[in-house]
Amino acid sequence: MNFEAHLAPYAAHSAQSRGRSFAEPQAEARTEFQRDRDRIIHSTAFRRLEYKTQVFVNHEGDLFRTRLTHSLEVAQIARSISRNLRLNEDLVEAISLAHDLGHTPFGHAGQDALNARMKNYGGFEHNLQSLRVVDALEERYGAFDGLNLMFETREGILKHCSLANAKKLGAIGQRFIDRKQPTLEAQLANLADEIAYNNHDIDDGLRSGLLTISQLNEIDFYARHGREVESAYPGISGRRAINETVRRMINALIVDLIGTSQQRIGDMHLKTVDDARSAPPLIAFSEKMQQDAVLLKRFLRENLYHHYMVNRMTSKARRIITELFDAFMAEPMLLPPDYQLPANDDADSLAKQARKVADYIAGMTDRYAMREYRRLFRVDEI
Ligand code: MG
Repeated sequence: MNFEAHLAPYAAHSAQSRGRSFAEPQAEARTEFQRDRDRIIHSTAFRRLEYKTQVFVNHEGDLFRTRLTHSLEVAQIARSISRNLRLNEDLVEAISLAHDLGHTPFGHAGQDALNARMKNYGGFEHNLQSLRVVDALEERYGAFDGLNLMFETREGILKHCSLANAKKLGAIGQRFIDRKQPTLEAQLANLADEIAYNNHDIDDGLRSGLLTISQLNEIDFYARHGREVESAYPGISGRRAINETVRRMINALIVDLIGTSQQRIGDMHLKTVDDARSAPPLIAFSEKMQQDAVLLKRFLRENLYHHYMVNRMTSKARRIITELFDAFMAEPMLLPPDYQLPANDDADSLAKQARKVADYIAGMTDRYAMREYRRLFRVDEI
């Protein structure tokens, strides 16, 4: 059965895929990209997303987004857009669900601290780590390490990458060297991520009390939709008003992205997925919407991500990750056996041990990292 007959010619069709690193017999009752999605959902790293956060720490409140709910929101937004553009919804879903698998505990604060500690050992980059999770770290199959995903899924997970790293990655890094685009599905998952986090950070920011509605009304994009809600439902207030406003903002972004992308794809007369790779980025917002999105991001950076209450958590997170890393590097015998390498202090084995430590730390959930910190540094904790 051809599940993909309805797709546009420039979508990523399973039949034209560059395939898996280890050849496997074809799936019987699903497409190869559905199979990827299913492998991702059953992975250990995916379940950990439930206890990892982006801005707020997992224990701060039950209603804040976690990386798991964020990934589900990204998949929802990306699939809606994908169906309108006749792209491969299964691939878009797989990329969306996997895009944050490599994140450390405590969001960007954790990643920056780990990257700083890994400076002499090849650095740490969450995007690259997501790829490492699906390529190497998951232990689920007898025949291979990782999940053995399709090339296009892996290509979509590797959203960005330095030239130095790209050169080490072989085929999957080649597009960064050639300055080409990934599939339209990958471009789409990337922008769906942006739509999701900008809007849920507003929602979570308001919920936490770190942002106020009067602050948000300084942003034209929010104010405009807020006025629309007020005139549709005079006197509406509280959570209902916020939810109506955020809902309309998400919808406006999605509708704009579909229209603009349709136009750009049409102008290029694409025939195959490789035409899309050679074209400029085609999944995009209109110029006006792009400006609104930039202002919104700037607002969130200045008012939420650098709020002093968030800074306190960021600072604590940095300390936890840095001190865990240093303790494990000084005494690798504190690590679970799987993460210990034979003691040897030549540069190469040090770098390998450091990578093991980074894998161990990156795999931790927020609360596991805090517990591990207490276990190592507090005498009254075992
Ligand atoms: Mg994300």
